[in-house]
Amino acid sequence: MTIYSASVVDTPGDPFAGDPAAALAQDGALLVRDGVIRARGSLAALRAAHPGEPVTRLDGGLLLPGFVDTHVHFPQIRAIGGLGMPLLDWLEQCALPEESKLADRAYARAVAAEFLDGLVASGTTTALVFGSHFAPAMDELFAAAAQRGLNITSGLVLSDRILRPELLNSPETALADSADLILRWHDRGRLRYAVTPRFSLSASDEMLDACAQLLGKGVWFTSHINENLAEIATVAGLFPGARHYLDTYGRHNLITPRSVFAHNVHPRDAELATLAEHGASVAHCPTSNCALGSGLFPLRRHVEHGIHVALGSDVGAGAGLFLPKEALQAYFIQQLLGDAGLALTPAHLLYLATRAGAQALGLDDRVGDFAVGKEFDAVWLRPADGSTLAVNLRHARDTSDALARIFALATPADVAGVWIRGQNAAGQDPR
Ligand SMILES: [Zn+2]
Repeated sequence: MTIYSASVVDTPGDPFAGDPAAALAQDGALLVRDGVIRARGSLAALRAAHPGEPVTRLDGGLLLPGFVDTHVHFPQIRAIGGLGMPLLDWLEQCALPEESKLADRAYARAVAAEFLDGLVASGTTTALVFGSHFAPAMDELFAAAAQRGLNITSGLVLSDRILRPELLNSPETALADSADLILRWHDRGRLRYAVTPRFSLSASDEMLDACAQLLGKGVWFTSHINENLAEIATVAGLFPGARHYLDTYGRHNLITPRSVFAHNVHPRDAELATLAEHGASVAHCPTSNCALGSGLFPLRRHVEHGIHVALGSDVGAGAGLFLPKEALQAYFIQQLLGDAGLALTPAHLLYLATRAGAQALGLDDRVGDFAVGKEFDAVWLRPADGSTLAVNLRHARDTSDALARIFALATPADVAGVWIRGQNAAGQDPR
């Protein structure tokens, strides 16, 4: 057992459901055994109840639940920073040429390692990962994720039209390759499988039907929706019978409580109502939406419809893997929306970067906060002495104010430690 002495902060409540400040909790220590949190409270109380247990002191900064990224493309880790293009041009010029290279298994292995090590270094311990179009690349990702103990849900990306030829597969090979991957990786340790048509723009009705067959195996589902106006218009032309973009998935029964749709920047009310009715979640990707000029995410409309929203970095269109940066950008976007926006508090930002993602992925019984019984996935943000963040934390009035300063100023350089199921995975040795 280990007692971690730290400024422990999490969001056991839902700040969108009630008083945001009440959603926030703070304690001075956690007792961890076999990777699971057994007690939380003050350091004095835990020491008195468990005398003789070693104490690991994480002095300074905040200890937060490991971040949860609900939309991030592993094959794009080497393609960040392509600025100045809208979605479809960016895909053509930046993302897809790089994704084609993952046909080479050794290349895919190197990319998977860079991607997963990048997640850990950014404090992300759970992710819904948009996969590769190549099955051997998926084996590399899953194997490397298992090695690191990360909570990863991912799957082979499926497309049968419009994209460059090497990225296409037929519905038949999609079914066979996906079924093999599900057998090998789904529910193995902390790994799970997600059926992943790239978007209905590149997936025919036959391919989406194959996806529905795969969902029968109890796996997850993810795809893109309503990201960009040109994309939405193209989808409407490809599916003349569909009522709207969401309907292209709905007609194949792909909207479920295990479905996570990325973006949804331009939804119709009917789509929001359908998402809520089916209990599907939306991954909001703020830096990507800004970088590609996709639009300002209507968070208030999602919340008012009762849709569960979490955060995604959407690397490589997004500006990096560090979830606090996404939370800050989400805050900026809501400010820019004025009366149509939803003013976000520090509790909202922490919730969006942690527990909201765990809930979207159905993992909130295991991770996302520091409740007793949950697995100890954590990130310790402690800035270097003398840094602007250190100065600001020293002058924070309370926990909420300290969090606000973390979200405004922290970078991956402030990640002083990461724990994955109780194992110290990155950062310097705690003092
Ligand atoms: Zn994406």
